[in-house]
Amino acid sequence: MTTKREHSRGSKQSHVVDIAKLPYLSAVEREALEKVTDRFAFRATRYYLDLIDWTDPRDPIRRLIVPTHAELTQWGQLDPSNENSVTVAAGVQHKYTSTALLLATQMCMGFCRYCFRKRLFMEESRDKEAAGQLNEAMRYIADHREINNILITGGDPMVLSTRRLESLLKKLRAIDHVRIIRIGTKTPAFNPYRFLDDEKLFEVLSEHSQPDRRIYVVCHFDHPRELTTEAREVVDRLTRAGVICVNQTPISRGINDDHRVMAGLMNELSYMGVPQYYFFQCRPTIGNYPYAVPIVEGYRLVERAKTLCSGLAKRVRFVMSHESGKVEIAGVDRRHVYLKYHRAKDARDDHRFVVCHRNDNAYWLDELRPVEGYSNPYYRLRARAQEQSGVSCMPD
Ligand code: SF4
Repeated sequence: MTTKREHSRGSKQSHVVDIAKLPYLSAVEREALEKVTDRFAFRATRYYLDLIDWTDPRDPIRRLIVPTHAELTQWGQLDPSNENSVTVAAGVQHKYTSTALLLATQMCMGFCRYCFRKRLFMEESRDKEAAGQLNEAMRYIADHREINNILITGGDPMVLSTRRLESLLKKLRAIDHVRIIRIGTKTPAFNPYRFLDDEKLFEVLSEHSQPDRRIYVVCHFDHPRELTTEAREVVDRLTRAGVICVNQTPISRGINDDHRVMAGLMNELSYMGVPQYYFFQCRPTIGNYPYAVPIVEGYRLVERAKTLCSGLAKRVRFVMSHESGKVEIAGVDRRHVYLKYHRAKDARDDHRFVVCHRNDNAYWLDELRPVEGYSNPYYRLRARAQEQSGVSCMPD
């Protein structure tokens, strides 16, 4: 078997969406995985498939993009962070005072197997969550002067045409109080040619990234092997265009749950001038069971990785994007897990410190019980929701 089947530059940007078209899988494997893709869609660029070592069934790049049967294990929810509850206009989520999310599309260059928004790609929930014509979204943002930064997300906004992106950036730049525009994207990893073959895209980004109101591209590299020559060139070109690049990564079983891999990623990114911004706890999403790593294990991995990094490379925070807020896992000792609300849904909880009993099997905040004297904002949120629905069952 060949380990690589290199495609031409032109065809590298094309997609494979039918698992049966992957030439490297046996007929038995394909048949088994078709059952998975009937539920959770498959999509990959030929460029990304070319990065896989097909002789290694545990190859991390393969793991990230090719389904596994265990995705059918019953686990998690469709919308584990209850994003629906903070959706304020078509395609707009407003959870933290100064930040709003704009879901610009429901499509991605490739589908990460561990995606926490996979509901956007699923048949059973094909409701449009992304902004359509943008009018309602722009009106909401313009009416809320407290919003000083917008995260354009999806899906992956880089699937949009440059013309659409330009129109979106123009509209946002016309709103004076929006200073930072963030674009969350995995395209530099999945399809760097989307950038490299489009000179106009760099011009557009450069024009809208101004000295007092920058564009940040929040890259999504998961593994050092994604940092190919092409991906590095994208980051270099973006930086030269006046865009600030940072990186964020979910910790995922079989992909980067190794402290040396994490350190390799952080160090390489630091050489490129890209700070690792967040490591994320994998959200308990339907289909994500095989990729989840318990909180305490994740914390240990991050801390061990940091011992192999320079100060510049390890500025990262390890966080959970929970319904109640962005919760940093700040420490773990023999008996306790120490949490800090980096941002909270209820602004009164901003910076709140919560000490919980250690539970090595916990995957999510809901499974951590606070020690006496500490209240968990999540309980309050849940109690309020239960009050509204008329059901009462406070956790112990
Ligand atoms: S690029 Fe982001 S939104 Fe798209 S599949 Fe991956 S994690 Fe999900």
